[in-house]
This record gives sequence, structure tokens and C-alpha cells, in this order.
Amino acid sequence: MNFDCKPLANYPLRERNTLGFDVVAQWALPIPQAEQIPVAIRWAKNAGLPHRVLGGGSNVVLPAQLPGLTLLMDIDFIEVLENLAAKTRLRVGAGTNWHAFVRWTLDHSFLGLENLALIPGTVGAAPIQNIGAYGVEVKEYIDTVEAYDCQTNQWVTLSRTDCRFSYRHSVFKDEPNRFVITAVIFDLPKVWQPRISYADLTNYFANRAVDAITAPAIFDAVYAIRTQKLPDPKVIGNVGSFFQNPVISNQQLQSLKGQFPRIVSYPESATHSKLAAGWLIDQCGFKAMQMGNVGVHDKQALVLTHRGGGNAGELLGLAGQIQKKVKETFGVELTVEPMIYSEQ
Ligand code: FAD
Ligand code: NAP
Repeated sequence: MNFDCKPLANYPLRERNTLGFDVVAQWALPIPQAEQIPVAIRWAKNAGLPHRVLGGGSNVVLPAQLPGLTLLMDIDFIEVLENLAAKTRLRVGAGTNWHAFVRWTLDHSFLGLENLALIPGTVGAAPIQNIGAYGVEVKEYIDTVEAYDCQTNQWVTLSRTDCRFSYRHSVFKDEPNRFVITAVIFDLPKVWQPRISYADLTNYFANRAVDAITAPAIFDAVYAIRTQKLPDPKVIGNVGSFFQNPVISNQQLQSLKGQFPRIVSYPESATHSKLAAGWLIDQCGFKAMQMGNVGVHDKQALVLTHRGGGNAGELLGLAGQIQKKVKETFGVELTVEPMIYSEQ
């Protein structure tokens, strides 16, 4: 089938970035079908323009003028490939809403993704930073990723190993804009164990019978906890955690503990530990701070907020101040988690 490529000029993206910044894409193209992608990429290359993909816009910081071609990922389907005694294999379109997909799996008694409920955005973006919450990472359930490789102009299927998943990271972050993900294949094993080791979940289930700890109950718990703790992007602009939790050597942790006995850390490996970045930011006095149109959330200092009228420059200015103060106080670098796009 031949597709005409007719991108839309000066396309407003305010509704498609959860920070709610006023953003205009030079060119934008809704992509409801994978077959449009090679044509669109060729169009951008011929015009000498950069391209990128936008899902739900919940992990990006966009400039007022976004140059080049922005592909709006709208491929939306859920397909059951196999439903075996040991596992269920699902193929899901990249534009499918993540939370709706998680709810669909539980409605069909396919268990495993419940800890990842209420993460905004699309299925196609889930592999990008290997989304994770409450001790579960999506990589555990991904079999393969289908994508168009804009470098080689070929359709590819990437295995879990090819994706090089690590903590909030993957090959897709190492090579931004190279792959346009069109579908993700998930394997959900039939053997299921609840995972409620995070304090908020442990406390939620503390006074409940063990047989009440079902996957739908965990979905409901995560939904309730997150709704209470995180700002709803429809009301207050945000991209969730603005910084990654830093991983440091156990040696550095011991020395920090001498100075800051209450520092919050979790073992990451035999030699390294993860620090709670929200705690570091809170200790530096930023929690609930407002700076012009942007600020720091009052219930979780890892979340930066935008209440209207602001822009990427303002937000990155605040982020820079936080990074500087945390470095001065603890000697620890904070890495920004969302993808930052510039006007160039
Ligand atoms: P976008 O923001 O649209 O894109 C993010 C990046 O992925 C961009 O670089 C984009 O080019 C790329 N991309 C998107 N789709 C594709 C595709 N199909 N092919 C190639 N590249 C693509 N994240 C977590 O890990 N855990 C959480 O618990 C969590 N909680 C959040 C809570 C809130 C309130 C918010 C606002 C955000 C949260 N996030 C969390 C961050 C974010 O929701 C996730 O990273 C999500 O996967 C981003 O999806 P998206 O469709 O919005 O991606
Ligand atoms: P939380 O439960 O208050 O915990 C604070 C931090 O400590 C988290 O970042 C978490 O690391 C870490 N942590 C807590 N208990 C842990 C344990 N038992 N083992 C290992 N690490 C532990 O965090 P929260 O802000 O309410 O968020 C809850 C979950 O949702 C977290 O997993 C968080 O990553 C996720 N979330 C992510 C985003 C995002 O945009 N990336 C936004 C909101 C929430 P981890 O972050 O490594 O889990």
C-alpha cells in the first residue's frame, strides 16, 4: 500500500506534553499505521529535517518551537499471540495507552504488570527507559520489540538482549531517534507472585489477609497510592521523577553515612547502592519550593511541576539549581531522567 506523506505544519503540542508547555512542532504527522513510517522518515530526510517520535509526552521536556518532523505515535491494538499453560504472549501497538493496557491484562486474568499501573504514556515508550515502579521493571516481561531502524531503513525485531535494558535505561536512550518502535511483544508467565516490598505497598496490605493480596488488589493499591502522592498531569504539569536515583559505591555510601546518618539508600549490587534522590533534594530545602511558574512537588521532591505560563528554560534552570546544591552538599551528581529537546 502507498501512503501519502502530508505532515501538518505548526502543530500545537500543548495537549501532548504532560508538562503542559506551549509547544509548536514545525511539522507533525499522526501515525496510526506502521507502514507510514518509512515514507515519513524519507520525507524528513529529503527535506534535511530531524525527526523524533512522541508518545504521550510524559517523559519529555520540549522547547517552544520543536524543529523538524514529529511522529505522533497512534498505533493502537492488543493482540493475543499465544495463551499457553505456562505463559501468555501479547503483541501491543506502540501507541496503546500504557495504563489502559495494564488494566486490560488484569481484566483478562493475565498477571504481572499490576505494579506498573497508572504510569502515563504509551506502550511504545515503555522500553525506552525500561519503565519501573515498586520493584518491577518492564524488561522482565518484554520478549521482543518491533521497530523501524531509521539508520539502515529496515524493519527490525530487537530481542531483550538487543535492547540492552538497565535501570531506567536502554539502547533506545543510547541511540535516540534511531528506532521507531511500532509494537512490543510481552510474555506474561502464568506463575505469579505478589511483589509488595516497597513500604507504601507493604503498609497498604499490612492488615489484610494474605489471600487478599491478588494482582487486581495490587493494581488498586498502586492506583490509590499514586493518586494520593503524585500530581495528576491533567491538573499540575509534570513528567514524574525529574532525576534518576544515583547509584554510588558502597565505599562512598559509608562515608556519606558518617555525615548524614539518615541518608536513604538501597543495595543495588554487591558493590553499589542506590540513593533516594527525592530525599537528597528534600534535605537541600527544595521540597514544595516555587520558582516563578515552576516548582518542586510538596509530597515528592523528585517531581518538578509547572502550573502554567512557564517554559523549558525555566524548568531546566530550577533543575540546574537542584543539581548544583545536591552536588555541593552530598558530592553526588543527579542525572536528568526525561528526554530534553532543544530548538536546534
Ligand atoms: P514520551 O514522553 O512521548 O517519549 C519519551 C521518549 O521516548 C522520547 O524520547 C520519545 O522520542 C521516545 N519514544 C516514545 N515513543 C516511542 C516510540 N514508539 N518509538 C521510539 N521512541 C519513542 N516512568 C517510570 O519509569 N516509572 C514510573 O513510575 C513513572 N511514573 C510517572 C508518573 C507521572 C505522573 C508522570 C507524568 C510520568 C511518569 N513516568 C514514569 C515517566 C513516563 O510516564 C514514562 O517514561 C513513559 O513510558 C513515557 O511514555 P510516553 O508515551 O509519554 O513517552
Ligand atoms: P518511594 O516508594 O517513596 O521510594 C523512594 C525511592 O526509594 C524510590 O525512588 C525507590 O527507588 C526507592 N525505594 C523505596 N523502597 C525501595 C525498596 N524496597 N527497594 C529498592 N528501592 C526502594 O517512591 P515514590 O516516589 O512513591 O515512587 C514509587 C515507585 O514509583 C518507585 O518505584 C518510583 O521509581 C516509581 N515512580 C517513578 C516515576 C518516574 O517518573 N520515573 C514517577 C513516580 C513514581 P526506585 O525509583 O528505583 O523504585
